[in-house]
Amino acid sequence: MNYEMTDDQIALQNACREFCGNEILPGAVMLDTCSREEASAIMKGNLKKLGSRGYLGMGITRDFGGTDADMLTTVIAGEEIAKSCASTFITAASSAVYFGYALSRFGNDEQKKRYLPEIVSGEKIGAIAVSEYDAGSDEHAMNTTASREGNSWIINGVKSYVTNGPIADYFLVAARSDSGNVTPGEITLFIVGRGCPGFSEGELSDTMGLHGAQAGEIICNHCIVESIDVLGVPGQGADILGYLKNYRALFTAVCSLGISCAAMESANRYSKERKSFGRYINRYQEIAFRLAEMMIQTDISRLLIYKAAWELDNHSVEAVSAVSCAKIFSTETAALVSGWAVQIYGGKGYLKGSDVERFYRDAKFGEIAGGTSELHRLSIASEILDRYSN
Ligand SMILES: Cc1cc2nc3c(=O)[nH]c(=O)nc-3n(C[C@H](O)[C@H](O)[C@H](O)COP(=O)(O)OP(=O)(O)OC[C@H]3O[C@@H](n4cnc5c(N)ncnc54)[C@H](O)[C@@H]3O)c2cc1C
Repeated sequence: MNYEMTDDQIALQNACREFCGNEILPGAVMLDTCSREEASAIMKGNLKKLGSRGYLGMGITRDFGGTDADMLTTVIAGEEIAKSCASTFITAASSAVYFGYALSRFGNDEQKKRYLPEIVSGEKIGAIAVSEYDAGSDEHAMNTTASREGNSWIINGVKSYVTNGPIADYFLVAARSDSGNVTPGEITLFIVGRGCPGFSEGELSDTMGLHGAQAGEIICNHCIVESIDVLGVPGQGADILGYLKNYRALFTAVCSLGISCAAMESANRYSKERKSFGRYINRYQEIAFRLAEMMIQTDISRLLIYKAAWELDNHSVEAVSAVSCAKIFSTETAALVSGWAVQIYGGKGYLKGSDVERFYRDAKFGEIAGGTSELHRLSIASEILDRYSN
């Protein structure tokens, strides 16, 4: 087993770290505290900046503007973006991976030509809309329907918690098809544009953290979508969602890794500046051991994420459980590590506007989105039961 990064990966990591430190990190506090209108403007600017450096097209082939990077290389860059601003990372992942990468894997050439170059450049923003208030973990309980009418499909339903809902140009919407050569009830995915007849925005989600990554409802009220905007073939939606589940979980894990890193570094810095009882607080073993623990947990998160990305790149049968392990560990670690960072800051850490308070709020997202910790544990458990049954 080789733990070394290639020269290209090291160069990419350094370049991405420097770029995000200069261009993304300075706006992170503003994104957390400003109005939604201001956040939309900053975020659209951030995506264009990331696009101009090729960071939104890493898993997409060069024909459509991407850099054709493998998953391992993509997560190396992703950690740097998430560390500088978790909101920007989740917005970028929802657009470039959950929408863009999905299209690059399952779209036809016409769809790729039409949508991918602008997603990769950050000129346009994508989103994925699967969850509904009554169908989250149990996606198959969705109530949104799609009925075939001639060359069009009519979509009806409300999607909840859609990341990028307020700013996206295009949505990948999952619906139960009840006609059009599909077994009734099977899921189909549709590319729905914001300007589509019958499309509107619903309530915005007032979230605990990740304020810059705005989420909200989208409403399809007799929304008319052309047949050419079906992703894959009618009825293939469940398979595509099954495939994407791994990537949604992996990128949620990367977001958490970035938060853990940022929280650990911030707490470490503060512990060198803050004196108590005449000594810097990092001279007290309780604080030093806590910092050591933060480093151990963050390093394990990174290793599990790299392993999961490598398994995906190599189409390994163990990829699904590797992704679940990485997702559970790194998201739960981010919640723990950001909480410890607040503790090391003491009263200052509890004040609104401190970095660590933001990391603490942002971290909770990871245990819920991209498949909850409980659902991933169930998945690992069933894999273990299968693997070791005699
Ligand atoms: C900020 C944010 C952004 C999001 N962005 C998107 C997006 O862009 N697109 C999108 O489609 N969705 C998005 N989601 C939705 C997210 O995917 C769901 O919230 C998530 O899947 C959980 O579903 P739920 O909220 O309905 O919870 P539920 O499924 O109702 O779960 C509630 C609790 O029950 C547990 N539970 C459920 N079933 C089981 C079981 N079988 N065994 C054990 N425990 C179980 C869960 O683990 C959880 O603890 C977002 C959510 C948030 C909070």
